Amino acid sequence: MSARILVVDDILANRRLMQAKLEAKYYTVLLAENGAEAIEITRQEEPEIILLDVMMPGMDGYEVCRRLKDDPQTAHIPVVMLTALNETSDRVRGLEAGADDFLTKPVDDFALMARLGALNRYNAVAHELRKREASGAHAGSLSEEETKVLEQGSNILLVDSNPSTARMILEPLESAGHRLLTLDGKGSQQDRKKSKLDIVLLNASHQTFDPLRLCAHFRSSETTRALSIIVIANECDRELAAQALEIGANDIIQAPIAPEELLARIATQTRRNRYVEILRQRVDRGLELSVIDQLTGLYNRRYMTNQMALWMKRASSGGEPLSVVAADIDHFKLVNDKYGHEAGDRVLQQFAERIQRHVRPKDIVCRPGGEEFLIILPETSAEFAWKAAERIRRAIDAEPFELDTEGAVTLNVTVSAGVATYNGEDDTIGEMLKRADNALYHAKNAGRNRVTNIAA
Ligand code: GH3
Ligand code: MG
Ligand code: MG
Repeated sequence: MSARILVVDDILANRRLMQAKLEAKYYTVLLAENGAEAIEITRQEEPEIILLDVMMPGMDGYEVCRRLKDDPQTAHIPVVMLTALNETSDRVRGLEAGADDFLTKPVDDFALMARLGALNRYNAVAHELRKREASGAHAGSLSEEETKVLEQGSNILLVDSNPSTARMILEPLESAGHRLLTLDGKGSQQDRKKSKLDIVLLNASHQTFDPLRLCAHFRSSETTRALSIIVIANECDRELAAQALEIGANDIIQAPIAPEELLARIATQTRRNRYVEILRQRVDRGLELSVIDQLTGLYNRRYMTNQMALWMKRASSGGEPLSVVAADIDHFKLVNDKYGHEAGDRVLQQFAERIQRHVRPKDIVCRPGGEEFLIILPETSAEFAWKAAERIRRAIDAEPFELDTEGAVTLNVTVSAGVATYNGEDDTIGEMLKRADNALYHAKNAGRNRVTNIAA
């Protein structure tokens, strides 16, 4: 997977060296020699990743990072800070400026490629979700509240069979406000159901289990697939670290662990993980909004049309019958007029529930608009469709509807329905709906509270 990476450094030799390393791994490299240039290029070229030197004359790396993260157009681009000193305070400042990751100069090749690989994978997921969300120019940007969620303490599962290293890891994390779950039950968060796990922290150094097998298990299992996996590996275990990344670990930390580094990496992974989760929820909700009627929870007209097309095609090729029922509440206008629009809405909701209780799971109940309903009955003949419509009519008539929340005011409601059945290859959605509507019209004219299938 190739990506465009912007390298920002004031020293030419550093830029050249980094460019050579990255190009050797088939990355496309953009270069900037100062902060202003970096911001300009980022806005114009939207690179996938930015490697940002901290120490630069004029605008330093922290300031550049802050400006990029403040701009909705560039906020989502991961920034990796290159810090000359392995100083805690540097990293804290970087985090405060919104940096996504850190590398210490001189940059170790393995660490560099590991970070870039993890960022690439994250970018691919986040990019896909942002695209699907597609809610205008700033798709993927977060509200203030959502941003807060990203920064809250993390829920971490610590997997470490060595009690003394486990204790060393546990302490700094808990005092930083993270909640930990351990396999032996010593962590602060033993009730896993209370909050969703963000991270699995897997100590692979000197363990009694096979860390790679566990890593693969977490990646492939449905319930743990979305978790971030951070593997702690000894400096000499390059091979193991590389394999872990290949299997799907999100990050590697070298043992012995510097607590600051651990905290920074956990914060980064938590942020990414929750960002993706927020986007995923938005996409799911977007999909739902596009097919579900919000008042009743039934399918809307768009979905109705899609499903009719689908089932008509199946009926045409497979020869199974297909019917629809158009149902319309009798004198519904009077409900609104007499009891108010809110009471009318309550009737519509109860009406929808009642229909759903009286149809088969494969029947598709839709509310194309107002107080009109349409039920698609796959693999159903005219005769059985009529019986189904009649069953619904009786269910509506059988019990009064509640007009207020306490159920103190009730009202009898009736429904009229028209049935239409697919009549072969030349039939169209429009024709079928028209026949159902005509039948419904006949039912209304004949005195309401009845079902007909007269299409003429
Ligand atoms: P008929 O027996 O001939 O069907 O008479 P009707 O009064 O049910 O039919 P009409 O088409 O004259 O009136 C439908 C009414 O449904 C008018 C409209 O205000 C109301 N309506 C449509 N959508 C909604 C809604 O979402 N909520 C509420 N409360 N009323 C709605
Ligand atoms: Mg510099
Ligand atoms: Mg009506």
